Amino acid sequence: MSFSTLGLSKPLVEAVAEQHYTKPYPIQEDAIPAILQAKDVLGIARTGSGKTASFVLPILELFHRAKTVKIKRVNVLVLVPTRELAIQVADVFQTFGKALPNPVKTVAIYGGVAVNPQMIAVHGAEIVVATPGRLLDLVSSNALRLSDVEILVLDEADKMLELGFADEMNRVFDLVPAKRQTILFSATLGDAIADINQSLLRNPVTIQI
Ligand code: AMP
Repeated sequence: MSFSTLGLSKPLVEAVAEQHYTKPYPIQEDAIPAILQAKDVLGIARTGSGKTASFVLPILELFHRAKTVKIKRVNVLVLVPTRELAIQVADVFQTFGKALPNPVKTVAIYGGVAVNPQMIAVHGAEIVVATPGRLLDLVSSNALRLSDVEILVLDEADKMLELGFADEMNRVFDLVPAKRQTILFSATLGDAIADINQSLLRNPVTIQI
């Protein structure tokens, strides 16, 4: 199996080679084609499994296809538990996004720093990687709206719950459109994650690594 047989176009195939990814990890073999087919995905996978690239690459591929045929842009919201993960995931989007002929604007949004620069940075962003609290601050100050989100990714959802973000997550779920693609990653599949899966995902492709 290669990244190109999974459905990625040449610029992204070249970009993964540049990062010395010689072949897809198992989670990528399953998640990339499913996400490209607009399916919901439940991935039970830990850090180190290659989970980040398993959603970043197909999402960028969807951008590439959308821009090539000049249809409307894809709006992506990635919810993450921590500032470090927000920065890290946005960085992976930027690294691979640079390979595409049309730029994709990605921003990282997290608490603990001044809000004003983020209000400016988020303007016109196509991919927002955010911690839940600061995201809602930006929504309440009208710097950002979630009504155009087409793909919602929950990364390390079990950790988000552990850190006490359940209420914020539920508010975000209420603000995003019902018609969307949802991708849920968690290291563990406990009752709370099973509930989120049940209520938010539609016929998900389930991947357990
Ligand atoms: P993650 O589980 O997303 O935190 O990724 C763990 C590490 O694996 C990161 O340093 C990635 O850059 C790397 N990685 C992801 N996919 C591949 C791959 N197919 N081949 C080699 N390294 C990879």
